[in-house]
Amino acid sequence: MAGHRGMVGSAIVHRLRALGYGNILTADRDQLDLLDQQAVRDFFSAHAISQVYLAAARVGGIHANDTYPADFIYDNLMIQANVIGAAHDHGVQKLLFLGSSCIYPRLAAQPMREDALLTGVLESTNEPYAIAKIAGIKLCESYNRQHDRDYRSVMPTNLYGPGDNFHAQNSHVIPALMRRFHLAKEQGDPQVVVWGSGTPRREFLHVNDMAAASVHVMELPPDVWARQVSPMLSHINVGCGSDVTIHELATLIADVVGYRGDIVFDPNQPDGTPRKLLDVSRLQRLGWQAGIPLKQGLADTYAWYVAHLDDVR
Ligand code: GDP
Repeated sequence: MAGHRGMVGSAIVHRLRALGYGNILTADRDQLDLLDQQAVRDFFSAHAISQVYLAAARVGGIHANDTYPADFIYDNLMIQANVIGAAHDHGVQKLLFLGSSCIYPRLAAQPMREDALLTGVLESTNEPYAIAKIAGIKLCESYNRQHDRDYRSVMPTNLYGPGDNFHAQNSHVIPALMRRFHLAKEQGDPQVVVWGSGTPRREFLHVNDMAAASVHVMELPPDVWARQVSPMLSHINVGCGSDVTIHELATLIADVVGYRGDIVFDPNQPDGTPRKLLDVSRLQRLGWQAGIPLKQGLADTYAWYVAHLDDVR
């Protein structure tokens, strides 16, 4: 498991443990730097590894992607090349690569099907990150085609949940707004500012649903998997199948937090892509569907945030 300290990686570890897996290998960053190719190779040499979940990545919201584009493309390219290359060289047959729905063109037909990949221009605010993730998918496909590996890629929609990054500037919209509404409630502020116009639509998936879907996809028998994917189009979307506007989301979060003041929009902040809804029919045909409603997931995330106010990232 690469990325076990992250929001998704830790949820996958919990899921695997709940399913009875006792032999999950993890390494903290001070033990293993995934940017260091030799260190990654040595790690694979030193352990008997049968399958890899690659959930390690540099991730962040619209502002972070715009501010640190070099970090986003370099770190993600290196981490995935190091881990996937070393996995192959050490005979690991099964690997799950975690991507993102921002791999699809900015103006892709909605909901976005897997075959929309590489059919148009990407959203500029996160293009470097998206290019890295597209390279990761193609790396997996290429090892499958050239070496008969079984490397699968899952493309989650926007994820949220316990363990998220609640940084004021660099986080994604749900933790950012949860924190802002919470502080406004505490301080009695009359209004809260939400970035952009409020009109972009986003689909959100709870991280526990993502973890369940990841393990589900990893464990599908190869013949069942192969019936749904092709060697040149082997990634699969993971979402809940419905979306909300940022305005609706902000209202929901205010409600969950118990904030009663006004919500105002700041059009000087970027909106990003207008809509990002995934077509999840491929995953449904493979027998998986999301189970956590947004309102319940937000309440669960807020409870976690309040319980971890002192140590959130
Ligand atoms: P994106 O899906 O890659 O655009 O990721 P984000 O989660 O960063 O942003 C989603 C949408 O929420 C964009 O339209 C943002 O402009 C909007 N948004 C509103 N307020 C905030 C905020 O405080 N932080 C972030 N990150 N986005 C916000």
